[in-house]
Amino acid sequence: MLKTRITDLFGIEHPVIQGGMQWVGYAELVSAVSNAGALGILTALTQPTPEDLAKEIDRTRGMTDKPFGVNLTVLPTINPPPYEEYAQAIVGSGVKIVETAGRSPEPFMELFKEYDVKVIHKCTSVRHALKAQSVGVSAITIDGFECAGHPGEDDIPSLVLLPQAAEALDVPVAGCGGFSDAKSMVAALALGGEAIVMGTRFMATKEAGIHQNVKEKMTEADELSTNLMFRTMHNTARVFKNSVSDQVVEIESTGSATFEDVKDLVAGQRGRKVFEEGDLEHGIWSAGISVARVKDVPSCKDMVSRLIADAEEIIDGRLQSVKA
Ligand code: NAD
Repeated sequence: MLKTRITDLFGIEHPVIQGGMQWVGYAELVSAVSNAGALGILTALTQPTPEDLAKEIDRTRGMTDKPFGVNLTVLPTINPPPYEEYAQAIVGSGVKIVETAGRSPEPFMELFKEYDVKVIHKCTSVRHALKAQSVGVSAITIDGFECAGHPGEDDIPSLVLLPQAAEALDVPVAGCGGFSDAKSMVAALALGGEAIVMGTRFMATKEAGIHQNVKEKMTEADELSTNLMFRTMHNTARVFKNSVSDQVVEIESTGSATFEDVKDLVAGQRGRKVFEEGDLEHGIWSAGISVARVKDVPSCKDMVSRLIADAEEIIDGRLQSVKA
């Protein structure tokens, strides 16, 4: 058993969280993660309306009696969603754990506090983490540069960012970005982290509702398999390297590109089709550098059990044996 303040805070068996993932965080995956003793997180904006989110929360409850949460991300979008209504759907459904991301959670904190919701805020810098702590979040996920999706603009990898955050904050910190297996998990604990947050690793599981072609492609990837796009627009996104993300990077390299020049290539609805239909070159799809470490497509239960058993083996075995 690996116990930390985060396992206590969320009432979970293992210090492992499945982070929000657009077009991936549906009930089947979330319930499988929670049933495996980790914390599953539904992605609010993957549901077309707040009413659909409430239904998805109900569906998840039908598949697990373990704790799970909902991710609410506020970032630039092509069609801005009604965030406040999504937040209302979350509290109205009785969900008690929310992962906020993208922007300060401050506007939502009053509502979440009123409903006794524990907020874990995901951010990419120590200064943003301190701000979130000051408005009352219960925990922080610190996103290193290795992460999928939006790593921010500071480019600080987890090896430095996680201990910086853990030392600066009073609330517990989870490491995100680069974590995928027992080796990186033990490293996160050594760095002061009290859990790991994984997205990419959970995409390549049996229960993730994405096309088998995507999962197989992930098992063939290496550490050079991601692209950073939107660098010039200060909305950096780490995504899988394919012909579409290569094209976006090339358009941006002219130095004068605007979002309009790449909008049709990057639209989330195109990326969604990659996951649903398996055409890997149809659009943009997110992956972190840890995709290099994904070698198989197990069930969530098998993956999490192996992760914990191997982490304990590293702590009790290898780390003890190097001690003189
Ligand atoms: P979308 O189709 O609205 O946009 C596609 C991409 O373009 C996103 O990365 C978005 O941030 C970016 N973008 C949109 N407008 C922009 C602008 N004016 N300037 C610069 N960049 C811009 O996105 P979607 O796939 O429908 O996703 C909805 C939202 O969820 C987006 O904000 C996305 O970044 C975010 N997201 C959330 C998660 C999560 O885990 N919750 C993961 C990935 C992305």
